[in-house]
Amino acid sequence: MADYLGPAMPEPVLSSYIAGRWVEGSTGELYPDINPATGELLGHVSVAGGAEVDQAVEAAQEAFAGWRSVPAPRRGEILSRAAQLLAERKEALARLMAEEMGKVLLEARGDVQEAIDEFAYMAGEGRRMFGFTTPSEMPDKFACCVRDPVGVVGLITPWNFPAAVPSWKLGPALIAGNTVVWKPAEDTPRVSLALALILEEAGLPPGVLNVVLGTGPRAGAALVEHPGVRVIAFTGSTETGTRIAAEAARRGKRVLLEMGGKNAIAVMDDADLDLAVEGILWSAFGTTGQRCTSASRLIVHRRVLEELTERLVERAQKLRLGNPLADDTDVGPVASRRQLDRVHRYTELGLAEGARLLCGGEMYREGECARGFFYRPTLFGDVRPGMRVAREEIFGPTAVIVPCDSLEEAIRINNDSAYGLSSGIYTRDVNRAMRAARDMTSGIVYINHGTTGAEVHLPFGGTRSTGNGHREAAVQALDGFTEWKTIYVDYSGRLQRAQIDTASAPGRPGTSRDVPGYTG
Ligand code: NDP
Repeated sequence: MADYLGPAMPEPVLSSYIAGRWVEGSTGELYPDINPATGELLGHVSVAGGAEVDQAVEAAQEAFAGWRSVPAPRRGEILSRAAQLLAERKEALARLMAEEMGKVLLEARGDVQEAIDEFAYMAGEGRRMFGFTTPSEMPDKFACCVRDPVGVVGLITPWNFPAAVPSWKLGPALIAGNTVVWKPAEDTPRVSLALALILEEAGLPPGVLNVVLGTGPRAGAALVEHPGVRVIAFTGSTETGTRIAAEAARRGKRVLLEMGGKNAIAVMDDADLDLAVEGILWSAFGTTGQRCTSASRLIVHRRVLEELTERLVERAQKLRLGNPLADDTDVGPVASRRQLDRVHRYTELGLAEGARLLCGGEMYREGECARGFFYRPTLFGDVRPGMRVAREEIFGPTAVIVPCDSLEEAIRINNDSAYGLSSGIYTRDVNRAMRAARDMTSGIVYINHGTTGAEVHLPFGGTRSTGNGHREAAVQALDGFTEWKTIYVDYSGRLQRAQIDTASAPGRPGTSRDVPGYTG
């Protein structure tokens, strides 16, 4: 860790990082950084408040003019170097992540890899960042459109993908020439600082990226309210995102929201069940069910319901819970005590609603897991689409099985959700697959694949309450962090008045001689 935080960092109390300097929180408070697998205290965070947000925004404003004038391909070289540094330190960073939020090592490496891919991809955007030209309607006039940075952007991110999710925002924000104030989740301060320091080591000038370690309601809210911040990019719960959107609207800010999901996998009666079982286990219990793309509804054709259910229960019960750093661990802890309680409340709710508990449904405290926040992989059967366990995001290792009788019914159940991030379907019938791809109304549809597995060069985001229309990753991510600037170059050497002139040009329908002042 010292490698990342540098000798000046007085561990184990972490501070905010503003304009290239460590800044202690003015609140005078500390919050604990806890290893969710062991309950061990990793250190404390000196809690930042509004004063540090002000300081960070000021630093970002000061850095903006310099950073926007760095040619985009040069900015890309910095991102490229950051990708390289991340690759060199992938293992160390993955371990740090596993310790801090409990993701098993295999997946933590994937999380870092996603950040590497995103920075490498966005580095390439530095040499593209395509605008466009189009003919002018006037003679001797040139017209084009270019992307301009918006200024200071505020990032608010969750703990579940502590490297990947921030990189999806940092990559496009930085390559476009914006400066950033980032408030990461309370549960992952170390990984967040490590990522920021790697970017700085790669060549980011001080003040271009500032990290404020504080709580959501205080530092997060101050960032949203700050008049110097033009865009807020948020990933987290729908509840918080909606509140942020309302506040941002009052202040006339652009807000990019990536919120909850209640993703479904449909399994048809002609599906390859071996493949479906693998995809479901990975999607439902990978990252302990704490991905925004986790599958928590399994819509299963009645003809294969019994067989699939049996196989899933058998396999789910065999998943090994344990230390995320051990190679043979399948499922790590949930990220915090708060999440653990939330997951268990949903088990109680499912039982109260009349769903049948097939496996799991309890905390796991055996052996090395005794002091951590472990929850047994949980499956509910006999679930009706209207039950709350089938409608609300649980964000833990819990999936519900909803029976169906046809493709049409499966699609209807899939679409009847407040959320719309990711859907999957298993079928060997190409006609069914194509109908599902057309009619499932989520932002992402997988055929013969679970609900997780996004790639950075394709847009990522969801419909309905999952988002507000923008997309992360791919070139589309630039839309959130840029303004289109239209440039006209008139080289006629005389006054041309666009529509005023063309409206009265000879031969135009409804104009010519009838137009007062027309002399053509
Ligand atoms: P939150 O929405 O509470 O937190 C996400 C981020 O927003 C964190 O950085 C948080 O800070 C910050 N925040 C919280 N309140 C405010 C506020 N009033 N103003 C500005 N920023 C704020 O989600 P949690 O991490 O607590 O998780 C709760 C639920 O959210 C999960 O159970 C899940 O349903 C959903 N979730 C969805 C994710 C997704 O990828 N779609 C990711 C994570 C969560 P702090 O850490 O200090 O609270």
